[in-house]
Amino acid sequence: MSDHRADRHEGALAEIVVDVAAIRHNVRVLREVAGVPLIAVVKADGYGHGMVEAARAAREGGAEWLAVATVDEAVQLRASGYAGPLLCWLMLPETDLERPVAEGVDLTAYSVAELDAIAEAARAVGLRARVQVKVDTGLSRGGASRADWAAVFARAHDGERDGSWKVTGLWSHLACSDEPDHPANDRQEQAFRAALALAEDSGLRPDLVHLANSAATILRPSARFGAVRCGIATYGLDPAPGHTPDLGLRPAMTVRSRLAVVKHLVAGDAVSYGQRWVADRPTTIGLVPMGYGDGIPRHASHPGGSAEVAVGGKRRPIRGTVCMDQVMVDLGGDPAQVGDEVVLLGGADDVPTAQDWAEACGTISYEIVTRMGGRTVRRHVDTDVVEEGP
Ligand SMILES: *Cc1c(COP(=O)(O)O)cnc(C)c1O
Repeated sequence: MSDHRADRHEGALAEIVVDVAAIRHNVRVLREVAGVPLIAVVKADGYGHGMVEAARAAREGGAEWLAVATVDEAVQLRASGYAGPLLCWLMLPETDLERPVAEGVDLTAYSVAELDAIAEAARAVGLRARVQVKVDTGLSRGGASRADWAAVFARAHDGERDGSWKVTGLWSHLACSDEPDHPANDRQEQAFRAALALAEDSGLRPDLVHLANSAATILRPSARFGAVRCGIATYGLDPAPGHTPDLGLRPAMTVRSRLAVVKHLVAGDAVSYGQRWVADRPTTIGLVPMGYGDGIPRHASHPGGSAEVAVGGKRRPIRGTVCMDQVMVDLGGDPAQVGDEVVLLGGADDVPTAQDWAEACGTISYEIVTRMGGRTVRRHVDTDVVEEGP
């Protein structure tokens, strides 16, 4: 099962290859580790891997649920043919809630106002909505603030009694799960248990209770509750570098291009805007036709930055400023040709990882993969399937 959309982008200078077999494998591993239902998070176009393709592979790997951030994303997944359990959690007062209610999407409510809006949508479409209530236990992002828990639970219970909805879940989100020893983890888990007790006192009996993201799924058994929400680990990236045991997760994304120019420099030649890198000896430089317009962070070029690509099986450092469309790499005087393959990131042993890029750029691997795109073409392959010849 490999699509050939690349054919329609013959002019693309770089490609993102996503192996759906890796996603399937990672979900299988995570589901086993979790021991409870797995909610695969495919928001933001599947962290740059393709929402619909990632969703399909995650389901094949055993994910019982899918989750996205926005109602739009949920509606897109339904339009792709996915009819199973689906959660979303981000809306504005003007967001159309009738369509997700009609399509059986679980909407997350943070407040009495949101519950009122869901009640109105349920009445309009003549269906019982599916509502999950989110409590804020220490992230101060979405979720009902502690002072509002009782009122939100009471309204949720009212709506359940008057047939507006079924409360299908109760959940929260951790702030520091990638730092397993951070005291916030215990505090948030305690707060979540307090919310569960109060919800029960309020008459709520949610089917699905969940707190853990990828890092907590792997590192914090006490946070697994009735389900886990896994995003980054689904794509084979390490959710808590330095803490995660080796589970054999496989990075699903490879980004590659080819050298568009190769040239010789003499000592004293400066490279790229600002002439911030100057060769201190003769060398060769290769031009990779991908830049910040395609998701390569310009931060990769900060002086002393250590971002690398692989050319001819060797790591090659980026030199000078990352441009909008191109970036230069130091080939160290080794023979190289225009057209030689460049692997910017991937999961093979000898190529840089998204985590390597994140460390070179002062960010996290999530941002590296999610921002990849621009003029690149993305193609899905399935290494579980042996492709037949023409
Ligand atoms: C993105 C997100 C997740 C997934 O987190 P990972 O660290 O990628 O596993 C889970 N829950 C919520 C609320 C999120 O926003």
